Amino acid sequence: MNLSIDSETQKRIDGVRKLGESQIRPVGLEADRLGRPTPADHPFFDLLLEIGMGRSRWVGEEPAEDSDTAGPRVGNSRNMLCISEEMSYWDRGVAVSFPGPGLGEPPLISMGTADQKARFLGPFLEPDRPRWGSFAMTEPGAGSDVAAIASSARKDGGDWILNGAKSFAANASRADWIVVWATVDPSLGREGHRAFVVERGTPGLGDFVVERKMGLKAYESTSFTLRDCRVPGANLIGGEEHYARRAGFKGAMRSFNATRPLVAIMAVGIGRAALDEALAFARENNLLGDARIRDRLERIRRRLRVARLLCWRAAWLADHGRPNIVEASMSKAVAPNVALEAASLGMELLGEVGGRGDHLIEKLFRDVKAMDIVEGTGQVQRIVMARHLVQLPRD
Ligand SMILES: Cc1cc2nc3c(=O)[nH]c(=O)nc-3n(C[C@H](O)[C@H](O)[C@H](O)COP(=O)(O)OP(=O)(O)OC[C@H]3O[C@@H](n4cnc5c(N)ncnc54)[C@H](O)[C@@H]3O)c2cc1C
Repeated sequence: MNLSIDSETQKRIDGVRKLGESQIRPVGLEADRLGRPTPADHPFFDLLLEIGMGRSRWVGEEPAEDSDTAGPRVGNSRNMLCISEEMSYWDRGVAVSFPGPGLGEPPLISMGTADQKARFLGPFLEPDRPRWGSFAMTEPGAGSDVAAIASSARKDGGDWILNGAKSFAANASRADWIVVWATVDPSLGREGHRAFVVERGTPGLGDFVVERKMGLKAYESTSFTLRDCRVPGANLIGGEEHYARRAGFKGAMRSFNATRPLVAIMAVGIGRAALDEALAFARENNLLGDARIRDRLERIRRRLRVARLLCWRAAWLADHGRPNIVEASMSKAVAPNVALEAASLGMELLGEVGGRGDHLIEKLFRDVKAMDIVEGTGQVQRIVMARHLVQLPRD
């Protein structure tokens, strides 16, 4: 595994660092102070488009299956992790608010037909305005247990009729489309799952409510309903053949295997920010003469580096088309805990200064907990890894 960062990626990281200091952190602090997501028409999002952000990772063409040049596919998710870590260092809530197809992109890339990629990701290649995509799996009654989703999909001629309620979907109310998971028959469990692209303005898609959150306030986490929402057959991701091969749930899981290391590395970014703040406070307040404090700070640095390597390994495997279920879960089980430890240590060192609620550490402390919850909780990752260890089938 190559641990070096190529010069192009390093340039992009440096760019994010500059943007982080001048824009990302201030925008995040503003959203936190106001207690609401950054509005979709905020000039910050136009600026991001101008500098080439807010785009799809999809390159706009499919490699021909029988192409002579088709070799093992080497993706770029490891490089993406480096950039995501830096964004989250400055503000993870703002990083998720960035325009782009978001978590809706991995299922479209891994399961979508060429036509669906062109229709839904194409507009994100050179976007004419800030555009968002969204991903909605979670429901009021189905979080960790995704098999329990109750939103229904019923075939009606060439269309599908969706009914149900979704919650906590990032950027849903501002999205051009939302990848919605529904079931054709709850008794089939995961085999009954289908993923649809539901486009903005589709009659029956509505009741958007931005949820209250303890942290990460810069992006919206939104609930919505589907009431007899008619979706064309062409919006069933992968088409019916895909599900005939019982590939629907596998598609969802492949998508999670891609996004878990991404969420985990974002926790590393938050943890690094917390460590830097804690170190700066300890230095300013002459606490670094105490060996116990130095040791606790250094332990965080060490553990953050371990967490980063786990994330990189999971992404590297994905980039080389190799299974990464265990590594993706491992990164997600470890990194948020380390980041939480970093923010907790910061709060302890700051004492009453942290308790006042106007120090960055306190915000990071509120931001970081969600990283253990989203994309499968830490507990669920531990269950996945333990089942794998003793060679039980995936639950
Ligand atoms: C900030 C934020 C953003 C989010 N963004 C999105 C999004 O964009 N799209 C989306 O679809 N969802 C999103 N979610 C939802 C998120 O994926 C769910 O919150 C998560 O899957 C956990 O589900 P739950 O909250 O219903 O908790 P539950 O599943 O009810 O779990 C509650 C507790 O029980 C534990 N638990 C559950 N099952 C088991 C078990 N079998 N054994 C032992 N312990 C168990 C869990 O680890 C957890 O500690 C977001 C959530 C948050 C907080």
